[in-house]
Amino acid sequence: MNNHLLPISEYEAEPIKFIGFTQPHGVFLAIAEPELTILQVSNNTLHFLGFAPEDLLNQPLSILIDNEQINIFRDYLSQQDLQSSNPIEFPIKVGDKNINFDGVIHRSDNILILELEPTVLDKNQGFFKFYPLIKLAVSQLKGANNLPDLCQILAKEVRKITGFDRVMLYKFDDDGHGSVIAEEKLESLESYLGLHYPESDIPRVARELFTSNYTRLIPDTSAELIEIIPYNNPLINQPTDLTNSMLRSAAPCHIQYLHNMGVGASLTISLIKDQKLWGLIACHHQSQKYLPYEIRSACEILGQMASLELANKEDNEDSQYKIYLASIQAKLVEYMSIDKNFIGGLINNEINILNLVNAQGAVICFDGEYIPLGNTPKQKDIQKLVQWISENLQEAIFYTNNLYHFYPDAEKFQDLASGLLVVSISRSQKNYILWFRPEVLQTVDWGGNPYQSLEIIEQEDIQLLPRKSFELWKEIVQLKSLPWKSCEISAALELRNSIIGVILRKVDELELLNRDLERSNNELDSFAYIASHDLKEPLRGIHNYSNFLIEDYGETLNEDGQSKLRTLIRLTQRMEDLIDSLLHFARLGRIDLSMQQTDLNKILHNSIDLLSPRIEQEKIEIRIPKSLPKISCDRIQMSEVFNNLIANAIKYNDKDKKWIEIGYIKDSNPLQFYIKDNGIGIKNKHFDTIFRIFKRLHGPNKYGGGTGAGLTIVQKIVQKHGGKIWVESTYGEGSTFYFILQGDEL
Ligand code: ADP
Repeated sequence: MNNHLLPISEYEAEPIKFIGFTQPHGVFLAIAEPELTILQVSNNTLHFLGFAPEDLLNQPLSILIDNEQINIFRDYLSQQDLQSSNPIEFPIKVGDKNINFDGVIHRSDNILILELEPTVLDKNQGFFKFYPLIKLAVSQLKGANNLPDLCQILAKEVRKITGFDRVMLYKFDDDGHGSVIAEEKLESLESYLGLHYPESDIPRVARELFTSNYTRLIPDTSAELIEIIPYNNPLINQPTDLTNSMLRSAAPCHIQYLHNMGVGASLTISLIKDQKLWGLIACHHQSQKYLPYEIRSACEILGQMASLELANKEDNEDSQYKIYLASIQAKLVEYMSIDKNFIGGLINNEINILNLVNAQGAVICFDGEYIPLGNTPKQKDIQKLVQWISENLQEAIFYTNNLYHFYPDAEKFQDLASGLLVVSISRSQKNYILWFRPEVLQTVDWGGNPYQSLEIIEQEDIQLLPRKSFELWKEIVQLKSLPWKSCEISAALELRNSIIGVILRKVDELELLNRDLERSNNELDSFAYIASHDLKEPLRGIHNYSNFLIEDYGETLNEDGQSKLRTLIRLTQRMEDLIDSLLHFARLGRIDLSMQQTDLNKILHNSIDLLSPRIEQEKIEIRIPKSLPKISCDRIQMSEVFNNLIANAIKYNDKDKKWIEIGYIKDSNPLQFYIKDNGIGIKNKHFDTIFRIFKRLHGPNKYGGGTGAGLTIVQKIVQKHGGKIWVESTYGEGSTFYFILQGDEL
């Protein structure tokens, strides 16, 4: 025998409503209107009514009741809301006895269905017995504080009214599976509270029946089934639709299912919210149990009243959860603004981003860093996932409770991240916040045994048989997490917007700081310019007067006096050079760049021409590329960069065979140039200081002197072009000055 599970979709195709059988506790009659001819009957009429089916079929209803009753019955039939008259008193003469039946009518495909159950309670007794119970139950329900409370009271009151051994409240989740959220039972019975059940236990088709039929009684799960004769309704040439029939027999697999749970009788009451089946009140009895129509109706009313309250309480609970999420969000925003680093604000406090969406793990990916919180996959898995997200996620947010479906690699970490919620802070920088939820199997209790699903046994005559459902359910929920609620998704999105706001604010602050810095730089430039400009005049005076002194009175001074005067002249000359450099530097800060398309080959050749006397004198080998790129820059200033760097490369070289290499790194973006020499080199510790103004590493007479402003000026020009400059060097072997410039090659 080859057993395999039957896919739910096939089970759902089982036409329960065309089952063609009824339960034995009443009589089923399908009647044609207006003549009231009996078309179909359940094959138990002889037992209840004293007529064999063949004696009733194609006969008028008046074969069962007298004309006066027929007229009353016709009155009921003419009413708009047919079912409001249920149950109708239906006295029938069976043999020589008058037996009272509860008649329940409805129409199916324009066929009148009359279902008769022997009356147990007379009308007044029923009403008086159950009215106070209902009244009490309703007032109890009104007193419930919250949803769990309400469910518990409902279970208790229904058990009081029905006397069933066990009454459970079963709630459906969005994905079709359900769980027991309240239970009242005999103490001796095992509790099912909190257990989850697969969708297949109450498949879609069964749920649909519950939405049109609010109560469903199976008084005896072991009772024989009663055939409807004939199977096809002669008026429509197909079986009558039994959707709303109270007596409709349950599907054999459902009966088997109840047996497996040790249930002798069951009553199910629908709980409807927004026209959808929200849940069920499931009543189970270990032995047979019949409930008259009135009690069933009482339970139905209670169910409907409770449904209204449930909807209220649930919406209330939803809005309370929303308020809770809003408070978490407000806290996070506050923490972010207090913390210097906003990320710290999201993770370092008791309340953190996990609370915001009820996740078990999260990772903040920011500026290439991965900051984990809670239970998350390994960093290398996160890196891959983020890469995938950056390639595939176009929107600000993405969420799924089945990551594996989109990203099969997620199978590896299903126990941590079967569910993913991600918001993008900046796509280009791959800045995201990811939240994770584990596979649902890890998070809920399930009602595996004794609940059963279906398997099909391949025999000649295929039939549905139950089997343990847990494996099937595992298949259904495998690799899935609990779904993200819409309020959690909104909360994540709102947090994203707040984060972007915080980042933008930080950028604004930075910009303000930059502006301040720029202003004080400008002020400094003006000061340096004015000061050096004004200093030049008295300095010139000192210089001139010193010259006059030595020319006119030099002879009156001794050797020592003359030497001191010459030093004074040299020092004023040096001071003038320094002031000129400072003036030049300060002027650079004050003038705007004059950007032009520039052929760097020309600039380089001009520089080499300018420096050619030294180059030839020292026999320096100049290595230059065939061609340098064309760029947009300030030509005069760029010439100065090349002049300065090449002049230094010539100057700071004491080798016999000197060479200088000038070039750029192909395909670099931004463009990167270099000027390399085999000169004296620079110690690491001076790599930064040489760019400071007037910083020289040598005495004034060594290596041909200089003011120590050259590199500072070069750096300023490069920076003004949006680039940067740095040096790499091995002391004693040579140096390479690199600089990059913003802007593409033209
Ligand atoms: P200056 O050449 O006027 O002294 P710079 O600002 O151009 O001023 O250079 C600052 C210092 O950096 C120099 O005094 C020198 O010590 C060092 N330097 C610059 N270029 C080189 C180089 N190519 N090789 C070795 N040292 C260098």
